[in-house]
Amino acid sequence: MMTHGNISEISVHIVGGGLAGSEAAWQVARAGIPVTLHEMRPVKMTPAHQTGNLAELVCSNSLKSLDESSAPGLLKTEMAAMDSLIIRAAIKARVPAGQALAVDRIVFADAVKSGLLETGLVTITPGEVTSLPTPEEASARGEFWIVASGPLTSHPLADALQKLTGSTRSLYFYDAIAPVLAAESIDMSHAFRADRYGDGDSGDYLNVPLSKYEYESFIDSVIAAEKMPLHDFEEPKYFESCLPVEVMIERGRDTLRFGPMKPVGLTDPRTGHRPWAAIQLRQENQDGTMFSMVGFQTKMKWPEQKRVFSMIPALRNVEILRYGSIHRNTYLKSPEFLGPDLSFKAAPRIFLAGQISGVEGYTESAAMGLLAGRACVAKSRGQEFTMPPRETMIGALGRYVTEGCLGPYQPMNANFGLLPPPPAVTHDPSRKKPKKLSKADRKTLIADRARQTFAAYQSSTTPSS
Ligand SMILES: Cc1cc2nc3c(=O)[nH]c(=O)nc-3n(C[C@H](O)[C@H](O)[C@H](O)COP(=O)(O)OP(=O)(O)OC[C@H]3O[C@@H](n4cnc5c(N)ncnc54)[C@H](O)[C@@H]3O)c2cc1C
Repeated sequence: MMTHGNISEISVHIVGGGLAGSEAAWQVARAGIPVTLHEMRPVKMTPAHQTGNLAELVCSNSLKSLDESSAPGLLKTEMAAMDSLIIRAAIKARVPAGQALAVDRIVFADAVKSGLLETGLVTITPGEVTSLPTPEEASARGEFWIVASGPLTSHPLADALQKLTGSTRSLYFYDAIAPVLAAESIDMSHAFRADRYGDGDSGDYLNVPLSKYEYESFIDSVIAAEKMPLHDFEEPKYFESCLPVEVMIERGRDTLRFGPMKPVGLTDPRTGHRPWAAIQLRQENQDGTMFSMVGFQTKMKWPEQKRVFSMIPALRNVEILRYGSIHRNTYLKSPEFLGPDLSFKAAPRIFLAGQISGVEGYTESAAMGLLAGRACVAKSRGQEFTMPPRETMIGALGRYVTEGCLGPYQPMNANFGLLPPPPAVTHDPSRKKPKKLSKADRKTLIADRARQTFAAYQSSTTPSS
């Protein structure tokens, strides 16, 4: 067993106070270990963040579904059981959004910060980290580091990571941001409340219906609008679940109508019919003064966004509070460089967490912060870290990051495809032939097995505090 000295001599430094870094800081502090959380904002901003707040949500205010039979819901349940600060803060900051866990981003960030400060063990240090200690330096100083600097990691730190891994090429793709609108500027005589795809009857979403003519004109305008240029030496690679609307339109004029503008389950009260297409707006803050355009990531230039969206009757006088935009997103080929506890093979006192490790999404990034925080605690105590089993959602994601996949390594969302497949048939003694399971039955089996495996893992691991 490794020993790393007295706990009072140990300190943990975390680079990045985003979703992953804040969660990691919480997990370390709740184990009684002092943490210095280095966050470069507001001293140095990223191209997408707007504030100096911890755990700022850069785009959508939704942490996706809470439904326990879905992969994102399962991940949240597991994280909540592991005492996740991010999930706790999100529940506190919740705004109405049907089954989705959407939050007021200011209340959320405040809850994360106060949760960390209340531990009395977290020091937030503003400023950019530009280098990482060598293994000898970290060991001599009794330090452990967790790098959670996110997809918009500053260049000097990206260079330091490149040096650490010996890799000559970092990986990247593009992510786009959807606009946020002022609620009072939406013309409600051309919009109506209804739940997404007709789920439930709480009317949490605002829907902006479009006729066939309006939809076709809108598509033409988006195609004609001026877009933000990407550096011409970079091939544009997008993340499939965060495609800009313009890229979706390139795949066909009806792609939006079958995607984010899908009108299924909606009835326009003015006509009594299903609209041809509908833009859905999700409440952004607890006061209900801001709404975001669901799935409307865009790389149109800002004046063009105003011009194109104003063509839609309900948005004729729209005030855009935050414009859509597009950003480079960097991540490392983690399975090549990390050991099974998320620490670098070349620098075992330095851990990697969050989106930069090759996951995609707020909750997924926080989940990797949770695991890296716990792994760091274990190593600092000379204990072995046990990754949750691959049958659990958090364990499957952790193993994706450390073990990789067959194809090219790409940022990964929580999804049931990461978990081992259940049997294709069941053997019911009352039937002669085995019964072939439906897709829904298989999902239920995966979720049930995940719950049982997770419960067994939780009871077998000693709490870290
Ligand atoms: C443009 C864009 C839009 C996105 N939209 C969504 C979305 O709608 N929904 C979703 O689920 N996911 C989205 N993502 C993906 C991802 O989930 C988020 O980026 C998420 O915030 C990642 O969490 P993280 O903690 O890894 O990184 P971040 O939350 O970005 O936190 C990293 C922190 O590190 C800081 N930092 C960087 N370099 C340094 C340094 N050298 N020294 C000190 N601090 C540093 C940054 O300021 C930042 O606060 C988006 C990503 C991008 C880039």
